Amino acid sequence: MVGSIFGLSEYPVTVFLTSFLNFASAMTKKISKVVVLGTGGTIAGWAPDPDQTRQYRAGEVAVDDLVRGIKPSGLQIETEDVARIDSKNMGWSEWQRLVARLAHWLAQEEVRGVVVTHGTDTLEETAILLHALFPSGKTIVITGAMRAANVSEPDGPGNLKDALAVASAPGRAGVLGVFAGQVHAAASLTKLDSQALSAFASADPVPIAVAIQNLDALQARFARQPTHPVDLDVAEFGRVSYWPRVEMVHNHAAQDGGLVRTIMSTDGKPAGWVVAGTGNGTMSQGLEDALSEAQQQGAWVWRTTRCTWGQVQAQSGDRFGLVSPLNPYKARVVMVLALLANAVKRRGPERPGP
Ligand code: ASP
Repeated sequence: MVGSIFGLSEYPVTVFLTSFLNFASAMTKKISKVVVLGTGGTIAGWAPDPDQTRQYRAGEVAVDDLVRGIKPSGLQIETEDVARIDSKNMGWSEWQRLVARLAHWLAQEEVRGVVVTHGTDTLEETAILLHALFPSGKTIVITGAMRAANVSEPDGPGNLKDALAVASAPGRAGVLGVFAGQVHAAASLTKLDSQALSAFASADPVPIAVAIQNLDALQARFARQPTHPVDLDVAEFGRVSYWPRVEMVHNHAAQDGGLVRTIMSTDGKPAGWVVAGTGNGTMSQGLEDALSEAQQQGAWVWRTTRCTWGQVQAQSGDRFGLVSPLNPYKARVVMVLALLANAVKRRGPERPGP
């Protein structure tokens, strides 16, 4: 089913997965537990009328019910609902809870990997957060769906099945996204399509069947992409009670920087700005001047691009930090973590970038 839905006829996915899971179960008689943490999203969505596929509520179905229908034999699976939300509402308190539960389960020797089910809308932000906090340990797979659980031909079961296969494979791959038959590096996956079942893209996607043959090699391959380590550990993250305010601003035609100046003149002004620049992270003179003033007031400023592909090249005389190739949304998450790390370590004044 997976192969035909996603047009991967060159990869006999179903056959491969079946034999792989038999192999995995033989190899892992002692330690083969995978934990599935639910956070909600469309994968856990419920449509009152299954024929009205666009009319559903996200996060209605318990993760245990999502797993029940597809439980592969030979795998011990534990489930836990960490949240039951539409991921448009994902926030720091949900992330704190998710990180704590991940840390708990990953510390258990018998747990081979963890799957996180998530809404697609902010999936990439959660992926970069987890990538920053759990850089290279046991496999954490984040997945979701574009169709609610009870509509005809839902994509969630296939994605979840693939996610379980990746999370239970021997080896360690750090944080991965699994969607529509492909495995994506957490740092580069992006939701590019608001409707299609294959909603995600990344710099170097790998078919599921290839990825599960050698997770260690997959991790080495993805590690070649630029990463953005943050000097903040999971325990420190768990103790945070104040989240620095970081705002995003886009460059666009007729951008005069007025928004930045207005916000910087308010109480509780941001500790940082991420610029979604045009093209190579460029910005109008007005925006650059306004952000320079913000920087003089102590705000961090990082520039990235509003383009989906390509990187932002450094320029001589750059006065702002560079976070390419992270998109602005991910850069914002990383900046909050870097600000927290800075505060926790009492490092003093701004570093220009991660
Ligand atoms: N609004 C949903 C969410 O992000 C969309 C989805 O999961 O596809 O929770």
